[in-house]
Amino acid sequence: MSDIIQLLPDHVANQIAAGEVVQRPASVVKELLENAIDAGASVITLLLKDAGKTLIQVIDNGKGMSATDARLCFERHATSKIKDAEDLFNLSTKGFRGEALASIAAIAHVELKTRQDNEELGTAIKIEGSTVVSQDIVSTAKGTSIAVKNLFYNIPARRNFLKSDTVETRHIIDEFQRVALAHPNISFSLHHNGNEVYHLKNSNLRKRIVAIFGNRTNEKLVPIEEQTDIITIRGFIAKPEYAKKKRGEQFFFVNDRFIKSSYLNHAVNSAFEGLLEQGAHPTYFIYFEVPPNSIDINIHPTKTEVKFDNEKALYAIIRATVKHSLGQYNVAPVLDFNRDATLDTPYEFKDKSSMSSPTITVDPTFNPFKTEPTESQHTYEKKSTASTSTSFSTPSKSSYKHDYKKDAGSWESLYSNIEPIEDTSVSQGQLFESTQETETGKTFQIQKKYILSSIKSGVVLIHQTLAHQRVLYEEYLENITVKEANSQQLLFPINISFSSTDIEMIYGMKSDLESTGFVFNEFTKDSITIGGIPIAISESQITLILEQLLDDMKLEVPDTSFSHFDVMAKSFAKSLAIKTGTVLSEKEQETLVNNLFSCKEPSVSPLGKATFKTLTLQEIDTIFSK
Ligand code: ADP
Ligand code: MG
Repeated sequence: MSDIIQLLPDHVANQIAAGEVVQRPASVVKELLENAIDAGASVITLLLKDAGKTLIQVIDNGKGMSATDARLCFERHATSKIKDAEDLFNLSTKGFRGEALASIAAIAHVELKTRQDNEELGTAIKIEGSTVVSQDIVSTAKGTSIAVKNLFYNIPARRNFLKSDTVETRHIIDEFQRVALAHPNISFSLHHNGNEVYHLKNSNLRKRIVAIFGNRTNEKLVPIEEQTDIITIRGFIAKPEYAKKKRGEQFFFVNDRFIKSSYLNHAVNSAFEGLLEQGAHPTYFIYFEVPPNSIDINIHPTKTEVKFDNEKALYAIIRATVKHSLGQYNVAPVLDFNRDATLDTPYEFKDKSSMSSPTITVDPTFNPFKTEPTESQHTYEKKSTASTSTSFSTPSKSSYKHDYKKDAGSWESLYSNIEPIEDTSVSQGQLFESTQETETGKTFQIQKKYILSSIKSGVVLIHQTLAHQRVLYEEYLENITVKEANSQQLLFPINISFSSTDIEMIYGMKSDLESTGFVFNEFTKDSITIGGIPIAISESQITLILEQLLDDMKLEVPDTSFSHFDVMAKSFAKSLAIKTGTVLSEKEQETLVNNLFSCKEPSVSPLGKATFKTLTLQEIDTIFSK
């Protein structure tokens, strides 16, 4: 038998290595930015075209490369950063594996220009699919510029596998933010398709965080600091009331390198224990300095997972440090997450003393069910706060599939007013068929969370929040997709600051948001001025709603415009649905039940949870027959 094993040619080996190192444009961005930092750059520019699919270019003012190095840097295992295995345990650079540029050059068209400070002329190299196309002596700025074009041009399967531009851009921005957060003393800018997305001047950590996440972040941050023999910790945590519903702004850096660690994340979470609403995630920016030889970074090609020597001790120290800050800055305990977040007027409005509550016209004692409902509007009063700003109102015109009879004197007529629902929903339609002689339809609120109602065949238990989400969701979807948007003009347009990425995202959704009733007066680099809002929401809820929407969009980036609307409707429904803890009057309970069963799909919430459960008389009987 002949021998069958052979060594792979370099370009094939490089392509295989590229599969590990370069998953998507964002991976290239990470590697190039890290190289620029390792080269000692103080100003780094990132240029992108088409989410990096067409072009990723990083320009730095670092130390540059000699002509020989410029050629060598594309070889596999070619690195200036380590010399022997010993060095692996004392790393002070981002890179060390010497395979990023070799991998990238194997799967893209790469143009390198570089010049060292002491040289008059520099080197330009073009390399395509691991093949050097040209090498020239050129005059170029001090430092290095690497342009990566047509990523995966020779691996169509990988190229086709790339997600939409929105998704890929999101990944790039995540990497960019991580690197920029790790190095506040370096200036970074990011341009996408000719537009400047970030311009981050060199500054301190707090300013860097604020520059990335928007001006409103500043007031949220609480510093943390600790120094022990094995670790130095510094950074910021956000006050508990600013915790996110979605895991988002959570950053650990070890020796200026972004890392992921669910173990340490658990330590932070446990420090916040009791201070957060269920399901909320604390925001944090935590920086550790440890001796380089106490961590192993080489356990994963992307170097975002590291192994610590003293993991258990670190856990305890981090937990204690975060707890200490929460206590010291008097941010614990926060009693009512929901209420505090809503009552806080988060935009500049509160500074305008002469303009006290100019557009609020809702009478908090107004109960449309006590009087004849001529105006088709109902209000869910939020019991715990007298503030009108927390009342939830929905325009019944679109939310109700039926009109209240003006002489609707009793709940029976409300129920009997439901149009029979055809096809699949027949059972629900019959559920509430009114019978004069029984107590059918009477509702009770249980634990400010559930509504219990007796029905013909037994009882039904309804989850008030999930039910209201369903009602609002269908209402919004109809509003967005079918109806002309109803908008209420704000007396004083409000200006809300956002991070530039968030602004870009909102700008991307502009026309969709407009079709729900939003009117945007102006978009600037760091703020948005809103002149009109959908009639279903109140002014004080705008920030909350938009933040929730941004969170949802980041998590579930929709590809089609319908799913765009869907995410939006879900997000609005989630933000605005009455919450657990809201006391509902009997009439409000009935209205909610009523509206729920007028929905197209009453049995599930927009996020797929059951909205109600029925218990038939038979089932109840069996309980007691045992
Ligand atoms: P690594 O960063 O792991 O060493 P890379 O493939 O990323 O491997 O880079 C190979 C080498 O090329 C680096 O070690 C460095 O000497 C050189 N290099 C890469 N990018 C730059 C840059 N922007 N400025 C100066 N030198 C660079
Ligand atoms: Mg590198």
